[in-house]
Amino acid sequence: MSDNLYELLASRFPADRGKPCFLMSDGGEVSYGQLEEAVARTAGLLVSRGVVPGDRVAMQVEKSWPAVAIYLATLKAGAVFLPLNNAYTPSEIEYFLGDAEPRLFIQDAPAFVGEAADAKPLAAPVARSADDLASIIYTSGTTGRSKGAMLSHGNLAANALALHEAWGFTPDDVLLHALPIFHVHGLFVALHCAFLSGAPMVWLPKFDDAHVLAGLARSTVMMGVPTFYTRLLANPGFTRESAAHMRLFVCGSAPLLPTTFAEFEARAGMRILERYGMSEAVIITTNPLDGERIAGSVGYPLPGVDLRIGGGDETGVIEIKGPSVFGGYWRMPEKTADGYFITGDVGRRDPDGRVWISGRAKDLIISGGYNVYPKEIELILDEMEGVAESAVIGVPHPDFGEAVCAVVMGQGDEAAMIAMARQNLAAFKAPKRIFFVEDLPRNAMGKVQKNLLRQRYADTFV
Ligand code: AMP
Repeated sequence: MSDNLYELLASRFPADRGKPCFLMSDGGEVSYGQLEEAVARTAGLLVSRGVVPGDRVAMQVEKSWPAVAIYLATLKAGAVFLPLNNAYTPSEIEYFLGDAEPRLFIQDAPAFVGEAADAKPLAAPVARSADDLASIIYTSGTTGRSKGAMLSHGNLAANALALHEAWGFTPDDVLLHALPIFHVHGLFVALHCAFLSGAPMVWLPKFDDAHVLAGLARSTVMMGVPTFYTRLLANPGFTRESAAHMRLFVCGSAPLLPTTFAEFEARAGMRILERYGMSEAVIITTNPLDGERIAGSVGYPLPGVDLRIGGGDETGVIEIKGPSVFGGYWRMPEKTADGYFITGDVGRRDPDGRVWISGRAKDLIISGGYNVYPKEIELILDEMEGVAESAVIGVPHPDFGEAVCAVVMGQGDEAAMIAMARQNLAAFKAPKRIFFVEDLPRNAMGKVQKNLLRQRYADTFV
C-alpha cells in the first residue's frame, strides 16, 4: 500500500459495499459501492482531461455527494485538491486560480460526475508518499492575501487516524454532516472519521433546524460550529428526547461560549466536546471522550502533537509541531515556519495540561501600553443580563493608542454595564464604550469577524 490517503480511506470502506454512505433527507441513499465506482470513473475522467500527479484540481460548487466523489477522485489520481468557498466572488476566484494554477476548475459537481459515467475507471490509486501534496486550503485571511496551506497525504492520514481513535468511531456510528465541504472541518475532520469507520452520514446540504432535528433521531455523532449549537438551543423543539440517540456532539472552528456549553448540558443532558484546529494543522487539541469536558477549554493536544506557549510568559502564542502540521504555504516560502509552527492563537496551559485559548494574537489590544486580552472582558460581559454574545476590540484612541470597546449582541444600559465591568476588571481593561447590535458579523464557519468591527468603530475616538 502506498501513502495515498485514498488507499487508506478505501481500505476501511465496509466489506459490504451495499452499505449506505450518504443518507439523504428525502429518503434517498448512496452506497459505499456507488461512491467507490463514481470515484474510479471520476479519477479516470480527470486523467483523460490531462490531470497528472501534482496538478491542482480546483472546485467551487454547491455541497453534494458528487463533490465528495471529486475530492476522493483527485486524491486517487495523485492530484491536489483545492476547494473554494462558495461565497468567493469572481475577482477573488481569479486570485486563487492565478495563484494555484489548477489544471481544472470544476463548478458543477453533479454534471462532472455525470460526465464521468462514461469514462474508463482508474483502477488503482496513483502511488504517493506521505510528503506528497494532497490538498491546498486557502486560509480565510482577514488581512492581506489568503495563503494556501499545503497539506500532504501524511498530514491528513495522521490526523484522521488520531481523531478516529480519540472520538471512538465505530462502524455502528452515523455521522450527521451539515457542515460545508470547502473547509477542513466538513471536508477532512468529518468525512475522514466517517470513511475510516465505513459509517454512513446523514447528508444535509446545510444546517437547517428541521432537517437537523430529524437527522439527530437516526445519527450518533454530530460535528458543528458554535452557531449550530446556538441555533439548536433557540429551537424549542430541541429537547433531551432529540439527543437520545446521540453519543457525541463535537464543536469547533470558533470558540464555544461557556453559556452555550452550560445551556446545552442542561437541555440535552450531554456535554459538547470542544476541540481546536486550523487549516494549517487540521485538529490540534481536543477535550476527552471519556474524561471531563470543561467549558472554555479546548482540551489536550492530540497524541503526537507537541504544543508549547511561546514568549516565556504563562499566556502567549501557541506553537505546535506534529505529524499533521502542514509543510508551508503555497509559493510563499517566506511565510513558511520551520520547527514549530506559530499558530497566531494566544493561549495558556493549566497544571493539568489543558489548553485555554484567549483569542488571536492580532486581536490583542494594547491600551496605554498594557496588553488586554479580549476574551477576559468578553467572559465578563457574556454573563450580564441581556447579553447573548460580546466581541471586544481595540479602536484607535488619541491618548491610549487603542481603546477597549465592546460590541454586544443584545441590549442593556451602557453606563451601568461599564460600571459593572469596572468592578471586576482593572480600569484599563474595562470597555470605554459598548455598542449594541442585533447580530455580530460572522464568516461561514461562525467566526466573529473582528476586523469588520474594528473598521466599523474606527472613528469612535478620533
Ligand atoms: P481556520 O483555518 O479557518 O479553520 O481557522 C482556524 C482558527 O479558528 C484558529 O487559528 C482559531 O483562531 C480558531 N478556532 C478554531 N477552533 C477553535 C476553538 N475551539 N476555540 C477557539 N478558536 C478556535
